[in-house]
Amino acid sequence: MSEGTSAGAKLPPAKLFIGGEWVAPSSGKTFTTVNPATEQPICEVASGSAEDADRAVQAARAALDGEWGRRFSARKRGHVLWRIADLLEERIDEMAHVETIDNGKPIFESRYVDMPSVIDCLRYYAGWADKVTGETLPVDGPFALAYTLREPVGVVAAITPWNFPLLLAAWKIAPALACGNAVVHKPASYTALTALKFAEIATEAGLPPGVLNVVPGGGAEVGGTLTRHPGVAKVAFTGSTEVGRGIARDAAESVKRVSLELGGKSPNIVFADADLDAAAKGAFNGIFYGKGEVCAAGSRLFVHSNVHDELLEKLVARTERLQPGDPLHPKTRLGPLVSAEQRETVLGYVATGVGEGAEVATGGKAADVDGRGYFVEPTVLTGVNNDMRVAREEIFGPVLATIPFDEVEEAIELANASIYGLAAGVWTRDVGTAHRVAAALQAGTVWINQYNWYDAGAPFGGYKQSGYGRELGRDALEHYTETKTIFVAR
Ligand code: NAD
Repeated sequence: MSEGTSAGAKLPPAKLFIGGEWVAPSSGKTFTTVNPATEQPICEVASGSAEDADRAVQAARAALDGEWGRRFSARKRGHVLWRIADLLEERIDEMAHVETIDNGKPIFESRYVDMPSVIDCLRYYAGWADKVTGETLPVDGPFALAYTLREPVGVVAAITPWNFPLLLAAWKIAPALACGNAVVHKPASYTALTALKFAEIATEAGLPPGVLNVVPGGGAEVGGTLTRHPGVAKVAFTGSTEVGRGIARDAAESVKRVSLELGGKSPNIVFADADLDAAAKGAFNGIFYGKGEVCAAGSRLFVHSNVHDELLEKLVARTERLQPGDPLHPKTRLGPLVSAEQRETVLGYVATGVGEGAEVATGGKAADVDGRGYFVEPTVLTGVNNDMRVAREEIFGPVLATIPFDEVEEAIELANASIYGLAAGVWTRDVGTAHRVAAALQAGTVWINQYNWYDAGAPFGGYKQSGYGRELGRDALEHYTETKTIFVAR
């Protein structure tokens, strides 16, 4: 078992985190997690089983029945969340390093976006902990008083993907804990390391044992067990639409609360009057930030015919300056994809697009970075139409499909012609067009003259098959509380 990395970052042991301590997986099995930039093993990770998932649910239940559920005031919960944020801030470099070697995202992103956003999310919900209140109700009838209480739902299963490993966990764990729930977290197998370290830090910050448990392992076995478990009250899931559908089915059996943050094929629309330099930069960041392994990636770029060639020229020039490289180098802005499998999927889509008649304006191949790593060149496809697979299906990599349009209504229609509805971008100097189009788009988030911005205070989630429920902001609190109505007779 590795104890640390060459840079001195401490790695978690090959154990599960249950009931406030490291425990061996019941099967004794582990799996190797690999650095996608070097293809070298980082360390072993414990592989949890159905039995371990059950053990974690019992630990979470015990926490709710014990100190956390009975004696911890709401304000004190806020203090603990804030303290976790403080400890994380002290270890921000180490946490960012581990995220980068595990996922491949540039250290620039882990250190200056992911980790600060995790900390911000914890502090945002720390502030909410003692402000989740009920109401007094003016009801008819023989009552002296009627009021509501907002109570925790109970044990929450948080199931997360590999693209923003700790950030998407924080989006669930922070509001869940602020509202007084206990959590069993099942991180993605490719990227379980920061989740395990986080649980240890949270315990050090004063979170009682069992309030946060982490069980890595197979999706169907650990995730499936949690989804069907009678002791779990709510499943908060981020991942693919396909797995999300299965979770909705499995959770329906015991009528669990479910929130689903699923896939996307988000449109980014550039009108003829847009600031083209800003739009080219926005389109570039919209698809290449996070290697394109971003649920809200602006993967369909609709460009007005009058400015199509000019915008494409700017975009391609910018794209050609983006060199994939060692994600630990501070100047790198494009790292390797998370796995060899993901690289093959992405390159397969490029080939499909070309087979359907698209042209590769730049990129399109695996990138050679010192002969190793799962790198793909940043790729722009032109000559795409909205019916091609590269315009309909989520590629989840640095591949942009560009599609021309002529009329505002046409752009709206094309943008909405998708099973997904996670996010969208609108680039125009006309304030009327901006708001009209934003209102007409079927998307949970619309950025105007911006792309890929998130804030702990702003709800995020999807329309259509991008899921249901919202994370972040005040909206998320709804998903982690039950409302109880109390009538008091006169
Ligand atoms: P995935 O759906 O394959 O896996 C997500 C998680 O679910 C993993 O932890 C996995 O182990 C677990 N899982 C797998 N099978 C399961 C089952 N039967 N029951 C319960 N859990 C199971 O997704 P991924 O490949 O890790 O991530 C990529 C996907 O996530 C993309 O589709 C992307 O769009 C989506 N995503 C969405 C958002 C959003 O906020 N909408 C954010 C990030 C990623």
